[in-house]
Amino acid sequence: TYVIAQPCVDVKDKACVDECPVDCIYEGERTLYINPLECVDCGACEPVCPAEAIFYEDDLPEQWSDFLRANRDFFKEI
Ligand code: SF4
Repeated sequence: TYVIAQPCVDVKDKACVDECPVDCIYEGERTLYINPLECVDCGACEPVCPAEAIFYEDDLPEQWSDFLRANRDFFKEI
């Protein structure tokens, strides 16, 4: 799955939402989240993010590794 990390927080530009072919990017209170069960790993969202907040899970910078779990947890709650 692709993951949205720290640079999205309080930014939420949403360019990615328009780009996602399966509409799996959802809005939270302070950031956007990608539903890992729906994401088809197409990568379309990653280059359009003006904040460069989106990463393939294996490429997520170490300091933002918590975002992988935070992202999954968001979808457990809704
Ligand atoms: Fe949507 Fe593709 Fe980004 Fe996954 S990688 S969130 S399917 S645009």
